[in-house]
Amino acid sequence: MTILRLALIFALISPGFAQVSVKVPLSYYLPTGAAYDPAIPTPEAFFGFQVGERHLQPDQIHAYFRALDKLSDRFAIEEMGRTHEHREIILAVVTSPENHGNIAKIREEHLRLSDPSASAPDVEHMPVVVWMGYSVHGNEASGSHASVLVAYYLAAARGPEIDALLGATVVLLNPSINPDGLNRFASWVNANRGAVVVASPDSREHNEPWPGGRTNHYWFDLNRDWMPLQHPESRARIERYYEWRPNLLTDHHEMGTNSTFFFQPGIPSRNNPLTPPGVMQLTQRLAEFHAKALDATGALYYSGESYDDFYVGKGSSYPDITGGVGVLFEQASSRGHAQESSTGVLTFPYAIRNHVTASLSSLRGAQAMRVDLLKHQRESAFSALKLADQAPVKGYVFGSKSDPVRTQLMLDVLLRHKIEVRRLSKTYRDGGEAFESEFGYVLPARQPQYRLVTALFERRTSFEDSLFYDVSAWTLPLAFGVPYAEVRGSVQEYAGEKVGTAVIVSGRFTPAQNAVAYALPWQPTFAPRAVERLLEAGIQVRIAVRSFDASTSSGPKAFGPGTVVVPLGIQGEKRGEIENLLTTIATSDAVVADAVATGMSDNGVDLGSPNLLSLKLPKVAILAGSGVSAIDAGELWHELDQRFGIPVVLIDPASLGRVNIGAFTVLVMPGGNYSALDSAGCASLIRWVEQGNTLIGLEQAIEWLVSHRLVGASIKKRPEAKRDEVPPPRPYALENEYRDARNVPGTIVNGTVDLTHPLLFGYDRPTMALFKSSGLVLEMSKSPFATPVRFTDNPLIAGYLHTDTRSLIAGGGSVQVNTMRNGRIIVMTDAPTFRAFWYGTSRIFLNAVMFGQIIRTSSTRPMQ
Ligand SMILES: [Zn+2]
Repeated sequence: MTILRLALIFALISPGFAQVSVKVPLSYYLPTGAAYDPAIPTPEAFFGFQVGERHLQPDQIHAYFRALDKLSDRFAIEEMGRTHEHREIILAVVTSPENHGNIAKIREEHLRLSDPSASAPDVEHMPVVVWMGYSVHGNEASGSHASVLVAYYLAAARGPEIDALLGATVVLLNPSINPDGLNRFASWVNANRGAVVVASPDSREHNEPWPGGRTNHYWFDLNRDWMPLQHPESRARIERYYEWRPNLLTDHHEMGTNSTFFFQPGIPSRNNPLTPPGVMQLTQRLAEFHAKALDATGALYYSGESYDDFYVGKGSSYPDITGGVGVLFEQASSRGHAQESSTGVLTFPYAIRNHVTASLSSLRGAQAMRVDLLKHQRESAFSALKLADQAPVKGYVFGSKSDPVRTQLMLDVLLRHKIEVRRLSKTYRDGGEAFESEFGYVLPARQPQYRLVTALFERRTSFEDSLFYDVSAWTLPLAFGVPYAEVRGSVQEYAGEKVGTAVIVSGRFTPAQNAVAYALPWQPTFAPRAVERLLEAGIQVRIAVRSFDASTSSGPKAFGPGTVVVPLGIQGEKRGEIENLLTTIATSDAVVADAVATGMSDNGVDLGSPNLLSLKLPKVAILAGSGVSAIDAGELWHELDQRFGIPVVLIDPASLGRVNIGAFTVLVMPGGNYSALDSAGCASLIRWVEQGNTLIGLEQAIEWLVSHRLVGASIKKRPEAKRDEVPPPRPYALENEYRDARNVPGTIVNGTVDLTHPLLFGYDRPTMALFKSSGLVLEMSKSPFATPVRFTDNPLIAGYLHTDTRSLIAGGGSVQVNTMRNGRIIVMTDAPTFRAFWYGTSRIFLNAVMFGQIIRTSSTRPMQ
């Protein structure tokens, strides 16, 4: 053997430089012994390379599915919807040609299973419905690639085995749940792949740039949006979900490179207690099919650990409480094409193969357990009614007179979940609260969706386990900030007609010849969008910081703090333009604009008062880039951009020292680590604030602001254990439980608010449900006027809090204003627009953006 040859062999086995093949034959992926129809193109024939050799873009995957649709009488493709970036989202309905010929009837019979009022269909002779969803996290791409091979197998395999499978099942393939994220990821790994594949974890290929491909366009985790339904991907999916009500739903993910393969069941003690017991048994039986199939390939795997189905907004949890069974699969990630791991080089084809294997074992399991899965669906509809009959809460009443838009937005979510909602037939009183029939709705607990209704409305505070994979509470009316009440007596007497759709009623505007000004209340959800339109058009707007009563064209009216006043006399020739814009605002933003005939108010401040402050158009930048939490930044970006039409410039923290920061008046620092913000950036930020601008720092950004002395706020600390006090010994195995139980897993807590503060304009209740997304709590400011949102002394409303954490939060500050010279720094300890459905607190953030400029700097000075 020559020295040269020895060196070559060394290079091949040396870690980091080993040549790795990612080219595999089709037989590597698919079951042995099957015959395939030559008329169906293999993925390799279609793409010009084998699956796993390069990363497929969603449009390539969809093109292949469309080709199968043309060539195979087992396939029917529909476009479910479009993503934010207008990519199509598709669903393939795959079943036997005979079933396709009868598909409308099959679907109609299938839906009868979930309807206790319908006669029972014959489960012995019905196909089972299996939904297979791939790569909701776009950078967990082995799932979507597996779907291509599963599709080929289902279209091309020939013989009695596949005929029996397709006769017994209707398979719904959703090859890419998150095409925008998959596109970002595929572009990155393909662009950084050499002709020779390398497996070094240090390669750019395996280290995506911020924000990565996990999330959707606005950096939301779509595997948390099954419940809030705030994104087009989720809305398209839920519509098809209820068109089919699958018996089994598979959810294909990736996890750390050094792990193996996971399938559910997860941790039993962390299952949502509303889950019917049958789900666990069925999941366990399915697990035997996965284990057997993976044993045959020699793959390592595990179940019963790591993951849980507590939060109902995840793909594997949602089906469990809506009549089906959801199963999570997690495969060790190769990220790019191949990567060194603790068990050797993990190739992309290997990762893909495990998801193909689990997909096919799921189908075989569903085929074998068909009748039991169908019976389970029927039984869960009936047991839901039985549980409702036994439950003390017979239903819920909800609705808000002061902001009917938020009520409709919440109603819309309920209706998308196929929850039965009825109009309120007469006034319902609950303690001091009166729900008027015009603005109210009733949700009877006794309905097939009882479990979901309960999951969305309950306020659970006791748990079997103190650790959570995701949040511990999500009570829908608290998130939307819509008043609600539990009904323990008869619901029937309040239940009016069934509601079909949510309708946002237009506002109202009529131009008046004698008007000196128009006044718009600040309560309506989309009032900030109205103000943005006015300011963008160069119209002068004044904000009343005190209330006043005025005679309007529709009679005398009380206007609260935050009222938007558009004076006409000082705007030159713009009267016509203003009136046209207010007409648009009334319809598009659901805001009422009243004509005021005189500047002299009946009560309170007059229209020329120094308590009406002129407002400037905010020019907003959000720091987004390496170190910043993409999820947190995305929520804020989405809120301003999508909901309120406010232009947002996204700036990388590392370049802050070099940009023209003077072009902005509001700068937002989402939660994250700002070590990338250099001294030039920090200095320029300080100068900019001092000039009178508004900086908004959220969650962990507060730690950076405090350590760089931009704010005088201090973060509340836990009472430290005494230095000489040695803790008692604890079992090694329980370390995680002891260490992590003090974390805040995402919990709903109670806050007290100062309704006179500009950050709270538009609110009308002295307390507010807040989502605690971080462990941060502020010490109260030395100025008594500068902490307008603080936690109450007994803060827990819903979810889990360790007793130590409860006392840390009690009485602490949540939102605080600081000043530097002429500028304001507003800090918020938690995410105000959490997962885009926390409309209840998102206004505080909008107020910070819009009204930060009018907060008196003197209000933050300590009392002498
Ligand atoms: Zn995932």
